[in-house]
Amino acid sequence: MKNNTTPSNVAEWQKFLHEMYGDNNAVYYQSILQLIAMLSLTVKKLADSIRKGKNEETPKRIANCISKTFAIANRFQGMDMASFLAIKYPIDGCAYCGEKPCKCEENRSEHIPSAKTESQLGWNFKNWQVHLDDVYGPKNRSAGIDYIILRLFQELSELLAIATEVDYISRPATVIKQEYGKELADVFAWLFAIANVFEINIDHATLSIYSNGCPTCGKKKCECTKFFITDGQISHITNANSLPNH
Ligand SMILES: [Zn+2]
Ligand SMILES: [Zn+2]
Repeated sequence: MKNNTTPSNVAEWQKFLHEMYGDNNAVYYQSILQLIAMLSLTVKKLADSIRKGKNEETPKRIANCISKTFAIANRFQGMDMASFLAIKYPIDGCAYCGEKPCKCEENRSEHIPSAKTESQLGWNFKNWQVHLDDVYGPKNRSAGIDYIILRLFQELSELLAIATEVDYISRPATVIKQEYGKELADVFAWLFAIANVFEINIDHATLSIYSNGCPTCGKKKCECTKFFITDGQISHITNANSLPNH
């Protein structure tokens, strides 16, 4: 990090947000399903802000979604999201057709395994936004924002599918962890795609929301609880819209 407090690349953001919210998430979100539910509510708020057209709320909502996506990754020991992004979105082009921009048909071929490029591990959000725009920007822009939001919601369903299947299908935790990592990389990619459509710089958005501490309690290590006290009265969070914007 440039100094001790300002994260600049994906790995640093993952660590920074873990320091801010790791303990809070461990206490209040006891299962991974609860974390996926919180990400879904945060994506819903993002979709609501997009429906109102370009406005100043959208960058904040994207930043909140980035934070919640890292919260799921941080549930696992050493899940390095920069690595998963580099595996799923290699530097040379689409991981399926190998082209830049992507030329995949709707029924695309199997993922082409590629060695991850070390330089990608140090990329910041803007580097990823530019790269994904080079590979998928033309396709996404012609498909439109509604399609991109649909794909983001589909990724949430994929996360739910993994979380649900563990009760029915026997697989080692290391395999399941890899599946989560790949789906979380896809969540990031669709968030980057939304930011690209609205010309939002995610580095700026996340810095403006989180660099001085939790946006709700103001602390570097979040102290938000499930209730808050105003005028001597304990208030509980009553609906999704009054949840803290983590
Ligand atoms: Zn392709
Ligand atoms: Zn807080």
